[in-house]
Amino acid sequence: MSQFVFSTPAWPSVEISGLDARFPVHRIYCVGRNYAAHAREMGQDPEREPPFFFMKPADAIVENHQTIVFPTRTGNLHHEIEMVVALSGGGINVRADRALDLVFGYAVGNDLTRRDLQSEARDKGRPWATAKAFDRSAIISAIHPASRIGHPNSGRIWLSVNDEPRQQGDLADLIWSVPEIIAELSTLFELAPGDLIYTGTPSGVAALKPGDRLEGGVEGIDTLITTIGDSP
Ligand code: MN
Repeated sequence: MSQFVFSTPAWPSVEISGLDARFPVHRIYCVGRNYAAHAREMGQDPEREPPFFFMKPADAIVENHQTIVFPTRTGNLHHEIEMVVALSGGGINVRADRALDLVFGYAVGNDLTRRDLQSEARDKGRPWATAKAFDRSAIISAIHPASRIGHPNSGRIWLSVNDEPRQQGDLADLIWSVPEIIAELSTLFELAPGDLIYTGTPSGVAALKPGDRLEGGVEGIDTLITTIGDSP
């Protein structure tokens, strides 16, 4: 039996609706600019620039109904409501027509973003890690098994802050569908059980401040509620 020099942290995991067992998180992948209206509000042309991928660490996960401390080193923290795909299978070069076989279920997520650091990174041609992969940046609802809710490919996706509507879209407007995302991602990384994929956000992203209460959802999946706390 192998030993470690200090005790290991708990494996990051997410509640599964209707089950006692939890979903162990392997990796967190995210799709950038997967709704045309959001690509345009970021100053990009969705006709010329296809979506792309970035990652967050597995332990950036925060579950539903939590208060998070306001992240350090940002004056422009943005919300990004997204549908999240949870995988129970994996592989390399997965065909799109077999991709849904890998899907365990779906959740509602919020890809928190330090927009000021992202803009700076983009302008200087630097990586997005400090803008996207910071602590407590991957908020997620319970995962709802596809065996119960099916594979949603249309339905409202929305987010309100302090009961004021901010983001509004429809899953039908995804540029890359879930099978296309899985097929494309599997040409770049070997997918594995426990992987989560944040599928991109509709337009309406905007800044958050301490005390804000976020409520967002995806029709047919769940509602995600988060409170932004004070700076540490
Ligand atoms: Mn996003």
